[in-house]
Amino acid sequence: MPPPLSDQVALVTGASRGIGRSIATSLAACGAHVFATARTTKALDELVDEITENGGQATSVTTDVGDEADVAALFAAIRDTAGQLDILVNNAGVGVFQPLADTRVEDLDRIFAVNVRGTFLCSQQALALMVPRRQGYIINIGSVVSFKGYPEQAAYTASKHAQFGLTKSLAAEAQAHSIRVSAILPGGVDTDLIGQARPDLDRSGLMQPEDIAQSVLYLLSLSDRAAVDEIYIRRKSGTPF
Ligand code: NAP
Repeated sequence: MPPPLSDQVALVTGASRGIGRSIATSLAACGAHVFATARTTKALDELVDEITENGGQATSVTTDVGDEADVAALFAAIRDTAGQLDILVNNAGVGVFQPLADTRVEDLDRIFAVNVRGTFLCSQQALALMVPRRQGYIINIGSVVSFKGYPEQAAYTASKHAQFGLTKSLAAEAQAHSIRVSAILPGGVDTDLIGQARPDLDRSGLMQPEDIAQSVLYLLSLSDRAAVDEIYIRRKSGTPF
């Protein structure tokens, strides 16, 4: 049973394509008012049109999640338009996939700015809206490399480990405010990112973005008594990625 979210406001970062787009459409299909954010305005506007045509409610706000002023403006828009935030999905993510020796420090900084700083900034702003209401759910999209290491992914893996550490600490902290925090840690999903990370993989066996969206809906359908710390979801066949 999909969770009924008709009185809920959700923010999905990295909603312009891939996993984030699928999460945004799934939340909207359950009745949530979805704020969709990423850097590409045109793709966000197309997503909002699609959700609206299907009877849902969505608002696009162009944001670089690594930029503090941008994130502050995003949350000001949420406060002004909706006045509350019930669900935050920190999904925006980037990677560079090459040997550590060839990875530029600029790329390391950019990856951390999106994957770690973005999660930090959005979570901090979300808490300001959630804590006074003693209600909210923060879901961070990590990766199998949040806890494993693969060659030629050092900068991405370091950022996902850091994001996972942030998630675990925040989960412990937010519990006192009745706010739940979970990590979803996917293996290979058929998106642009996997094409960069693992061009060698046969994409026909990969998970689809909807499989991760379904995990988000599963978390949101849990009873108020239950909390899940993390979901490690991987493709059914092949070596776990
Ligand atoms: P994707 O198709 O490349 O999408 C990444 C999304 O992040 C895009 O919407 C992109 O939008 C957004 N983004 C990138 N930089 C941003 C920034 N500075 N500010 C705001 N948004 C930004 O990748 P994906 O596979 O869907 O990845 C989504 C998440 O899943 C990531 O956190 C990734 O690490 C994780 N993940 C993916 C896989 C996989 O196999 N695909 C596996 C495990 C985990 P713009 O470019 O428009 O900004």
